[in-house]
Amino acid sequence: MRSSHRLLILAAFGFSVIGCRSPGTHTAIDPMVSVNTLIAAPDDYARSRVGSAGFAVPPYAKFLKGVKICLDPGHGGDANKRAFKRGPTGVREAEVNLRVAQYLKEFLAAAEAEVILTRDEDDYLSNEDRAAIAGDWGADLFVSLHHNAVDGNPKANYTTVWYHGEVEDRPSNLDLARYLCAGLYDALALPQITDVPLKSDLLMYETGFAVLRHATVTAALTESSFFTNPDEEQRLRHPEYNLREAHGLFIGLAKYAAAGLPRATLIEPVGTKVARQCEQDPVHAQESESGVAASRDETNSSLVFELDDGLRKRRAWGHERNMILSDTISVRVGGRMLPHIFEDDGDRYLLIVALPADLPAGDHAVELQFQNMNKNSVLDPQFEITVQW
Ligand SMILES: [Zn+2]
Repeated sequence: MRSSHRLLILAAFGFSVIGCRSPGTHTAIDPMVSVNTLIAAPDDYARSRVGSAGFAVPPYAKFLKGVKICLDPGHGGDANKRAFKRGPTGVREAEVNLRVAQYLKEFLAAAEAEVILTRDEDDYLSNEDRAAIAGDWGADLFVSLHHNAVDGNPKANYTTVWYHGEVEDRPSNLDLARYLCAGLYDALALPQITDVPLKSDLLMYETGFAVLRHATVTAALTESSFFTNPDEEQRLRHPEYNLREAHGLFIGLAKYAAAGLPRATLIEPVGTKVARQCEQDPVHAQESESGVAASRDETNSSLVFELDDGLRKRRAWGHERNMILSDTISVRVGGRMLPHIFEDDGDRYLLIVALPADLPAGDHAVELQFQNMNKNSVLDPQFEITVQW
């Protein structure tokens, strides 16, 4: 049944190519331009299947509760662009991306994660705007959802997940990418793999993908499979296959959260001249504009961070034991490593960082990195401080 349907579409495609030789005059429907090529599904298709056989919400998904996740269905508003991001029979990547995002949202909502989509319609959005939606909302995680394409190799069909820049730029991006990739591997079970599925976006563009470059929160971009592969293109039309992909991404995110999402908060100096804007929302300290004033007097020549391993707050058996890999702790200002003292009293982790005596007055970006026992890196490594004389 699927193949006969495909033949029909191929026939329509062939007809339209002939018809389009005089584009200004023909009125026939052109599947390359305007046909919604996904197989229709009821509005409650995903919601009614969340938790059913094959689409379980596992117990560990509870650790997604309250995690703020911004989903970005790639492209959109491009139906008028001839042959733009289309499969062999005209399936539009933008539509597949949107449906997978909408289905993924249903799973995440069932786990009580907080979720927004950058677009919920077939709208155009700039890449910068997509990243800004995540940052302005204060997302913990930003996932841009795509499907892949290649010219001249219709057999290609494998998963890649992209991170921005170099591996050391933001290690949490790699955590997110790794878990998403594993979820897709299990859900789609594509027979092909690429030997190193986590890819730097610098391989594609000198400055990487704009949507990742502009991201201010932990981010990754999935290319789940290839819509230029004729068989995969037809699978991507099916709501159940879209749901499978969404479920794989969901399981990846759930396992990531279950392994603990480490965070850090700058707790001293306090009561300084410039109050930190992020005191009400310490998780997103890197978005503070005014930063904190760190004056270089005797009482205030160091920074104190409270670290959260993402695990201890669960109060599980053994929670008072150290669950931070202390050798992974690093604090840098302008790329320069600063000395620190790590303290754990079984309840709180504190990190005391001495500011160098020659640090000039002005604004400085402080980067703090550490990993918890599951090798998850801190989500929010950037802090702005203002040194005053
Ligand atoms: Zn794309």
